[in-house]
Amino acid sequence: MSTAHYDVAVIGGGPGGYTAALYCARSGRSVVVLEKLSAGGQMATTDQVDNYPGFDEGINGFELAERMERQAQRFGAATVYAEVTGVELSACPKRIESSEGEFTADAVILATGASPRELGLPGEGALRGRGVAYCATCDGMFFKDKTVAVAGGGNTAVEDALYLSRLCKKVWLIHRRDRLRASAVYHRALEEQGVEIIWNTRITALRREKRLTGLELEDVNTGARRELACDGLFVAVGRVPDTALFAGQVDMDGAGYVAADESTRTSIPGVFAVGDVRTKAVRQIVTAAADGAVAAHYAEEYLLSLAEGEGSA
Ligand code: NAP
Repeated sequence: MSTAHYDVAVIGGGPGGYTAALYCARSGRSVVVLEKLSAGGQMATTDQVDNYPGFDEGINGFELAERMERQAQRFGAATVYAEVTGVELSACPKRIESSEGEFTADAVILATGASPRELGLPGEGALRGRGVAYCATCDGMFFKDKTVAVAGGGNTAVEDALYLSRLCKKVWLIHRRDRLRASAVYHRALEEQGVEIIWNTRITALRREKRLTGLELEDVNTGARRELACDGLFVAVGRVPDTALFAGQVDMDGAGYVAADESTRTSIPGVFAVGDVRTKAVRQIVTAAADGAVAAHYAEEYLLSLAEGEGSA
């Protein structure tokens, strides 16, 4: 397979990746976005995005993703649907191996985001697709008129519970503490939608026959145990960054996020990290998009310095 060269390669087509691509393309740079599945990443699995400015009535996450992709394409950014299998970030130019061949680029923007964290219970992997799920908008329809539990207390868990409450016969939200981490704006909605919260409780085992049939629960304060029969469990207990490909090359924090400050610059010159994959306090679509614009700015600065270096050599 041949090698294609671009000024900038963006690994991951979420809001951070496509914003970076948009800005780089508008600066006249050749840009490729390498995306494994479809545009949008985590955002594409969100039913209704209500906190991205400019959409006063909210917008479906998948649609927003498609719009971001088209907007970057309008200025010449290419998208290649490919799984990245290896990178050499310190090479010059930087090299990227993928299922669609090799790419080289002078600057690379890491925008791989994060994936759902598992609960780590025995049998969880085997029950994936057999009652255990990690994305309500992707798999919720399989549980129409059924009973489901959602594990977690953050914004994802609460949004999943609200989404499922419109489809399912009964929804429980199981949280290990006595307070939700999710934004206060959701608390009343949960009550209105009839979601029943089971506080101070952890899931200790998954009951199954061919599929999930229920959960074993433990009250974290009293140790009391009980069973909860249900058809489905949606796990929404946070995310882990998709950074395995970059391990040993770029500096990361203890949790595996790529170390980069607000400039998005990483420990390797010409490599930038945007969105959920970067060390940061607030992981939102709007902050990922902001990272994309910042990364494009510093990528341009880097590309100019590279050209000056070549010119003076
Ligand atoms: P999160 O905010 O980190 O929340 C994870 C939740 O899972 C917490 O309630 C945590 O409990 C619980 N948890 C973690 N590990 C657990 C375990 N092993 N067993 C049981 N419970 C466990 O993750 P998220 O909800 O996926 O959100 C990730 C980021 O995206 C956040 O910054 C969030 O604000 C953002 N987000 C925003 C929106 C929005 O603005 N519309 C939507 C979705 C996500 P504790 O509370 O006890 O720690």
